[in-house]
Amino acid sequence: MSTSRPKRLALLTSGGDAPGMNAVVRAAVRTALERGAEVFAIEEGYQGLVDGGERIRRMTWDSVGGILHRGGTVIGTARCSEMRGREGRLSAARNLLKERIDGLVAVGGDGTLTGADALRREWPGLLAELVEKGEATAEAARAHAHLVVVGLVGSIDNDMAGTDMTIGADTALHRIVEAVDALSSTAASHQRTFVVEVMGRDCGYLALMSALATGANWVLIPEAPPDVDDWEARMVEVLREGRRAGRRHSTVIVAEGARDRHGEPISGERVRRVLEERLRAESRVTVLGHVQRGGAPSAFDRTMGTLLGAAAVDEILGMGPDDGPCLIGIRENRVFRSPLMENVQKTRSVGEAMAAKEFDRAMELRGVGFRSSFRIFRTLVRALPHEPRPGLRPRRFAILTAGAPAPGMNTAVRVAVRLAIDRGHRAAGVRNGFEGLVRGEVEELGWMSVHGWVALGGAELGTNRTVPREEELPAIARTLEKGQIDGLLVVGGWSAYEAAHRLVAARGEHRAFRVPIVCLPAAIDNNLPGSELSIGADTALNSIVEAVDKIKQSAVAWKRCVVVEVMGRRCGYLAAMAGLATGAERVYLPEEGITLGDLQRDLDLLVSGFAQGKRLGLMIRNENASPVFTTHFLRTLFESEGRGLFDAREAILGHLQQGGNPTPFDRILATRFAARAVELLCDESVKEDPAAVYLGFEKGKLQPFPLEGFPAAVEAVEQRPREQWWTNLLPILRILAQPGPGAAA
Ligand code: ADP
Repeated sequence: MSTSRPKRLALLTSGGDAPGMNAVVRAAVRTALERGAEVFAIEEGYQGLVDGGERIRRMTWDSVGGILHRGGTVIGTARCSEMRGREGRLSAARNLLKERIDGLVAVGGDGTLTGADALRREWPGLLAELVEKGEATAEAARAHAHLVVVGLVGSIDNDMAGTDMTIGADTALHRIVEAVDALSSTAASHQRTFVVEVMGRDCGYLALMSALATGANWVLIPEAPPDVDDWEARMVEVLREGRRAGRRHSTVIVAEGARDRHGEPISGERVRRVLEERLRAESRVTVLGHVQRGGAPSAFDRTMGTLLGAAAVDEILGMGPDDGPCLIGIRENRVFRSPLMENVQKTRSVGEAMAAKEFDRAMELRGVGFRSSFRIFRTLVRALPHEPRPGLRPRRFAILTAGAPAPGMNTAVRVAVRLAIDRGHRAAGVRNGFEGLVRGEVEELGWMSVHGWVALGGAELGTNRTVPREEELPAIARTLEKGQIDGLLVVGGWSAYEAAHRLVAARGEHRAFRVPIVCLPAAIDNNLPGSELSIGADTALNSIVEAVDKIKQSAVAWKRCVVVEVMGRRCGYLAAMAGLATGAERVYLPEEGITLGDLQRDLDLLVSGFAQGKRLGLMIRNENASPVFTTHFLRTLFESEGRGLFDAREAILGHLQQGGNPTPFDRILATRFAARAVELLCDESVKEDPAAVYLGFEKGKLQPFPLEGFPAAVEAVEQRPREQWWTNLLPILRILAQPGPGAAA
């Protein structure tokens, strides 16, 4: 019955603060208002709920303006012991009932979600008690007989079941990786070993992923304690081997909850002593502490927080009295709903498994992505040149980067080289993409030749957009034959795929092309088929978001509309996601084009907004959104029609979007892709008729797709995939971007 569905909602953030919580608050408030509901923010988490009064604040469209880029949570969070007792929950019920609120969105960790569920379960009893004490009328209690609850996980630890990522974890990873990168340069100068202790009392996610993303040499996490008593000897041996191979410094990452298999804590200091005593290496410990919680949220935390906040409100508005509480998270890149307490239980069972020293079960419960990352990490730290398995002929794989530069290309090459050598094969680097293949620019890539590449932006091998012409194919065949190349790994974007496809199409004429060919998607534009995400797009998005944050700060001094042009070629992914992550009013996409009618509407909105006190307008335009209505045109149009109410500026972000060191996500993605690519090259190189594929990351899985199918999977003229998953996000973008019902700005 629709009358029993909540129309007055409350929202709280509780437990540890996490970057991205503000994105949730903004999206939840605006979505609720858009849907005609009233929405209240509870300040200071459950403390505010127990205290009531001014702490329960009615929210307007404007009250959540200008918060998307801020770290922490603007509505405050606190630990509240009273909430754990019935008296506290009675106060909470009294305060909610006073405001006639019967829907609660709680953002926090498992404690927060447990608290929300307790309040929901006890709600009828609590109301009966209030009525009995004369603190509420029977009528009010009847009208709000049920409390519906939706939970979102805000936690930097990424420690909850029911979501692939918790809000804040990606930002924390950014902070850790920035710190470890910085330490690496000083460590290399002094030939030191650094031990870095990161957060994660019960969850090794931050430690494991930061180790993978920084090329650390050893990691210690709570879920997988070393399986031997003298683990120190094994760690020291691996680090010593690295030194022998020429590495100037080493890094060990320790999760704060790391333990040995007897349950004894392994602290950073303990690791440092071991290294000094046994490795005789000068070692330093850095405990990163609360910097991991701080700073501006990453692009991912802003977009995910936004999507989850909006989804939470839509969910709760649709819930009836019989609907149990649910958790809204992200799974396989999509918003995912599941029963709240089941996830809390599952999360706790990881802790129980660890307490019972059932570490295999703990790893099992962490999920497939976690396990496979751990496996790749272990292989990478132990990977050293090996003899091939007996009876196996060593292969020589050529690796090239092609297309526009994408941050993370070097990371992929590094992993591919090392894993290929580890399997007893050889790696050859091709300079300058397919041009280099035509000219025969092939050189041996040794173990140390890719040292430090994990964190390096750009493309060390060189890259360009050249697609070889028909008459150049024989030269490529000669290069492959002369170099005795048994397989080709192509890391690149659109033109790389085109070029690789051309080789496959010519396999009939050139025997040399009948080797395994694997393409990895690396393009900031994210315009490749088969993969929801390509290497480099996350870095570009973060660069855009950082630049727009600065532009916004500069623009608030005066009433100003800024038109920001972003890259993407004919794919609107970067523009759309940047719109979500920066709170832009309007995004102009090539998929939609721009009409005169659109511009008239946008202009009207700007004029009325600024007339009512708005200070900033932000429009994001993809570089190819329209051949007629250019960025400059939009700016001059808005300025001349702004009639002195506001001025307009344009900012063409340009090539900074292709630069920069890769983000943690891009490094991890590149690593996983490259590991899979080497597996495929090895498997296929022994076959009579080896496959030629492009790899994709879709629905959380890495999968190969036949290169022959490339033309059918794309719109050739527009140079983008036929299906683009992210276009489903556009309605939310539009809701959040509009001026809002009755809003002043
Ligand atoms: P997190 O939400 O990050 O796990 P806490 O465990 O500190 O952080 O929980 C946050 C708050 O949630 C607590 O301060 C308390 O107010 C409330 N809470 C936690 N557990 C419960 C519980 N079992 N019953 C009621 N409230 C709880």
